[in-house]
Amino acid sequence: MILACYACDPGLTRGRRYPEIPAPTRTDFQRDRDRIVHSTAFRRLVYKTQVFLNHEGDLFRTRLTHSLEVAQLGRSIARSLQLNEDLVEAIALAHDLGHTPFGHAGQDALNDCLQRHNPESAGFEHNLQSLRVVDALEECYPAYNGLNLTFETREGILKHCSKRNARHIEAREPGGVGYRFIEQPTEGPQWQQPSLEAQLANLADEIAYNAHDIDDGVRSGLLSLEQLEQVALFSQHRRESLVLYPDLRGRRLLFETIRRMLSAQVYDVIDATRLALRQAMPANVNAVRYHSRLLCFSDDMARQSALLKRFLLQNLYRHPQVVQTTLSAQQVVRDLFDAYMADPGQMPQAHIDRFGGIDSRHAAETKPERVVADYIAGMTDRFAAREHERLKGVVAFPG
Ligand code: MG
Repeated sequence: MILACYACDPGLTRGRRYPEIPAPTRTDFQRDRDRIVHSTAFRRLVYKTQVFLNHEGDLFRTRLTHSLEVAQLGRSIARSLQLNEDLVEAIALAHDLGHTPFGHAGQDALNDCLQRHNPESAGFEHNLQSLRVVDALEECYPAYNGLNLTFETREGILKHCSKRNARHIEAREPGGVGYRFIEQPTEGPQWQQPSLEAQLANLADEIAYNAHDIDDGVRSGLLSLEQLEQVALFSQHRRESLVLYPDLRGRRLLFETIRRMLSAQVYDVIDATRLALRQAMPANVNAVRYHSRLLCFSDDMARQSALLKRFLLQNLYRHPQVVQTTLSAQQVVRDLFDAYMADPGQMPQAHIDRFGGIDSRHAAETKPERVVADYIAGMTDRFAAREHERLKGVVAFPG
């Protein structure tokens, strides 16, 4: 793979938190990707909600298939831009590891629980939780907790972070993955962006969910093709598909339309980013970090994508049926949190053993409420529902 000067070169990685001897046949980023694929948290993604709950149908996206789609889109754009494909893939496969069961509903509920328990709490952020999974919660290697990934993969995983939580990270890891989220000296350029590979994984996430949520929305019957005609990006590609294949109907027409939308967005990102890179001419990845965002849509595609996102918010994510499930899911998470806080013995012993843990680097994060939140966040949808039934005697999602 020939890398551009602004790509992340595994030979120049900023390294791992615990130094390791390089692998004989794989680069450090390939090794990160492999560790992620072999992790427990990765396997759990198959039973976690993207938008539709796991039990609602076998063909809807789950966090796992979503992550694979993000990796596919990311790799294909990375290759055209001579970015590091393996790094994009590693970030894409890990980006949702910290998601709770039941998607955003679960996350919001868990955040409320932590804040309610202690108003001083750092709360629950899924990006930070993804970092916690790979830094601390996976327990597979003899010498350390977590997966001991490279700085570059961890930087990509921490897509957003509140200032407050970033300051905690900065205290443990000066100049590390939290730095770009905290206040920096006002004079001179600011380090506010991650590598282009991380910027790409982020945009590929957006492209992937905008497209597959249309597909899942129609499959579920909550969105109709007539409604989707309001979305310019969709109607334009549907029209073009019908010009070429006038008899196309149903699922094939939907698939062809979405396929064309995806291609248009991929080519747009490649062209717009090439233009931005030609103008900025970053000499290396550090120049990328101190520049404004370089990996981007064109202005027109950015507008179209924002309109599509707004359509999905109004018509799918806020659909009464989705909202109803969301409310039940939030109740499940709240009930589980309260039940484990009242009686930690309901959790497996390994989790209770983490209370007030001895690893000084994570000591602040082993208060009982954090351990309970980690336990709940790690659950799959169906395990959370079963636990809820066991502890409360209520079936949260009948049928
Ligand atoms: Mg995602």
